[in-house]
Amino acid sequence: MCSFKLRPSKLSRYFCENLKIMQFKNTAEFAKKLDAQDKLASYKDEFIFPVINEKEVIYFTGNSLGLQPKRSQKYVNEIMNDWGGLAVEGHFKAEKPWWDYHERLAAPLAKVVGAKPEEVTVMNTLTVNLHLLMVSFYRPSAKRFKIICEEKAFPSDQYMLASQVRFHGFNPEEAIVEVKKRDGENHWHLEDILKTIEEVGDELALVLIGGVNYYNGQVFDIRTITEAGQKQGAFVGWDLAHAAGNIKLQLHNWGVDFAAWCSYKYMNSGPGNASGIFVNEKYLDRKDIPRFEGWWGTKKETRFLMEPEFEPMPNAEAWQISNAPVLSMAPYLASLSLFDEVNMDLLIEKSKLLTAYLEFVLHEIDVELGETTIFEIITPKDRGCQLSVFLHGQGKALFDYLMKNGVITDWREPNVIRLAPTPFYNSFEEMYRFGQILKQGILEN
Ligand SMILES: *Cc1c(COP(=O)(O)O)cnc(C)c1O
Repeated sequence: MCSFKLRPSKLSRYFCENLKIMQFKNTAEFAKKLDAQDKLASYKDEFIFPVINEKEVIYFTGNSLGLQPKRSQKYVNEIMNDWGGLAVEGHFKAEKPWWDYHERLAAPLAKVVGAKPEEVTVMNTLTVNLHLLMVSFYRPSAKRFKIICEEKAFPSDQYMLASQVRFHGFNPEEAIVEVKKRDGENHWHLEDILKTIEEVGDELALVLIGGVNYYNGQVFDIRTITEAGQKQGAFVGWDLAHAAGNIKLQLHNWGVDFAAWCSYKYMNSGPGNASGIFVNEKYLDRKDIPRFEGWWGTKKETRFLMEPEFEPMPNAEAWQISNAPVLSMAPYLASLSLFDEVNMDLLIEKSKLLTAYLEFVLHEIDVELGETTIFEIITPKDRGCQLSVFLHGQGKALFDYLMKNGVITDWREPNVIRLAPTPFYNSFEEMYRFGQILKQGILEN
């Protein structure tokens, strides 16, 4: 039952269908009540917030750069101290030796993405890793050379796909098939993706899509799309930049071939930081898969014998090339210790409620401000915590007003703000306060 007052807008109908959870109220008391019931509320204090006007900001851009966990400095200092005190000996004699430092990340990270620990490792950065994984999983032939992706994929992914295609001597215009949104719509339909996969059929070499779209926040049906692509004989990989640490992932059970994600968005590991990869266990411990190889991918038992023969590590580490950049792994490990304490199910439970409450607050403010809809949420109901909101009749001035008043959001042309209330460090009370600031901003602009 939808029991609050509603204007019959698209937004309210959507809200009605999807939220029968509880009767929300747009009041400070109600928001505080939700905070009091929030099992994760104490985790806010684990993070460092920027300060504007002598007040901690309301931070909505955890989808772009997650906040710094306080404990990450300790992890980094540990390495700085070991480097100073032990120098080269730190590789083996540090409390967390550097030579196998990355191994510590695999188990907690595997839990976040729903994988076996051996299917996961941390190395390089995201676009680099997608390139490296395409070395293994995009091996086009004259007949089977096409790649399916979503239209307007994240630019780095577009450049990566086009350059890979050209590298293999094909023409991107012919080889890359983009699944379009329907005219006048802001999201993709699963059936359109499945239809495209079937149409491309035995010319399909690879499906590579962003698991959560960075622009509209849409979550794709990874399992169904993976199955459909594989049924045509193609590999299916995922860019999980906006998915890791945000939505429930079951990469192993879903049979995904490979995936990669950055760690600085929902994973809170620090700017530009190391990327995680997933390689399905069926491709592990195999010498017959082409890879770009380096010494950190060869068996650790014989690595330092410096023999010419490459013996792949029996896990995803076979794709590692260089020795681990431990200074960037340290804050990732710190952040993973938080994920390990809390687990994804709890985070997702709060995320759903928090995002629903933000949606409700936006709707209430819209109703209070009058007859025409200002906020059009273009994020479909398959979503993580991000809401992308089209602002009718409002411009960048509103975004600037929010920033000046201590609300950090993200602005995308033409008229979209992206709001990602993250369950680790955003509170319900912030959603309420944001609504009030937003309303004031519209009245003043
Ligand atoms: C953030 C993001 C990237 C960033 O790539 P880097 O190699 O880490 O700079 C790539 N793809 C998607 C979909 C992203 O959201």
